Amino acid sequence: MGMKVVIIGGSIAGLEAAINFSEFCDSVVVFEEHKEIGKPLQCAEGWIHFTGVKPYISGRKVNEVDVIILDRRYNYKTSFSIKINGSVEIINRPEMEKKMAKMAEDRGVQIFTNTKVTLLGLTKQFSDYDLIVDASGYPSQWCREFGGKKPYAPAVQAICEKDANKITTFLHPELDGYFWIFPMADGGSKVGVVSFTKPKAPLRKLLDEMMKTTGLYDDGFEPVSYTGGLIGCYRNSPFVRELNGMKAALVGDAAGIADTFAGEGMTKAVISSRVLAKCAKCGLIDYYEKEYYKVMRGHYFLVSIFAYLRKNFTLLNLLGKSGILGVVNRLAVR
Ligand SMILES: Cc1cc2nc3c(=O)[nH]c(=O)nc-3n(C[C@H](O)[C@H](O)[C@H](O)COP(=O)(O)OP(=O)(O)OC[C@H]3O[C@@H](n4cnc5c(N)ncnc54)[C@H](O)[C@@H]3O)c2cc1C
Repeated sequence: MGMKVVIIGGSIAGLEAAINFSEFCDSVVVFEEHKEIGKPLQCAEGWIHFTGVKPYISGRKVNEVDVIILDRRYNYKTSFSIKINGSVEIINRPEMEKKMAKMAEDRGVQIFTNTKVTLLGLTKQFSDYDLIVDASGYPSQWCREFGGKKPYAPAVQAICEKDANKITTFLHPELDGYFWIFPMADGGSKVGVVSFTKPKAPLRKLLDEMMKTTGLYDDGFEPVSYTGGLIGCYRNSPFVRELNGMKAALVGDAAGIADTFAGEGMTKAVISSRVLAKCAKCGLIDYYEKEYYKVMRGHYFLVSIFAYLRKNFTLLNLLGKSGILGVVNRLAVR
């Protein structure tokens, strides 16, 4: 007998789960609270290539990252470049998610947009289903409904018409996070800021100050609009829980698995959904969390080194200038 699965969230983790579960399940249903798949967009759309996971559409390759270290007044202190040779690709995420939704529907998945659901509601309505997949982002639907409080990493970004051809990150001694300029797949750029340890940091003000003092406004990076959101990078363990006799498994940002170095979460959302589906196919849902960390252990180890370096500018500077950082980065990507 095939399984029956219901998924909360029609974004990257939920759609990847839908595609993978549809291969061996009798019924897969996805609920998305927004009207349209892929919108609103709260992402800088940088796809890091590692463990061989590819985006569903090809994007714009980025070959270089400029690291600029600022002083306390947001003035340039020192800078260096790291060659990344296309290991980061900028994708058009709304377009990719639309493609993923079509792939899922072609395989018999039912997707309901404009429908906000609750876990408790699902266990009542879908009591004959085998699994609920919580792909609702951060904080997870589980936390929202049952009051689990998790720290969070807030991020804000300005969309600008001016194009950028490489990624630039600005590090600031008082922010455990960074400012960034990301090119966009179809032209234009996003200038943003994330803080991993100061949830209440006045990000919009910081972003504005940084854009003024580093001369970005003068260089033509004029914000047209703003987006932002919370990045799920604090583990929401256990990933598999039980509610009203039904199993619920957390994937993507709902599981809190984006990394604390770059806030990168898209590939992790994809990998977690794939690992969950693989475990479920073998009747081993309870092993999902363990399996996920088996696949990702090396990557998180290297990411924690980068997160440490971000706070130690002198060492970062030395490694960056000697080119060693580029080598470590290529290892992390692998
Ligand atoms: C500003 C910013 C920039 C980022 N930049 C990058 C980047 O460059 N590269 C990268 O890899 N990652 C980036 N991230 C992180 C990345 O966006 C997340 O890791 C990724 O979106 C996680 O995908 P997800 O599907 O788990 O969750 P989400 O993308 O958050 O999707 C959750 C979905 O669930 C839906 N939902 C929630 N509750 C309900 C409900 N009750 N009923 C129905 N539907 C519901 C939501 O509407 C949403 O569509 C960034 C994040 C932010 C905020």
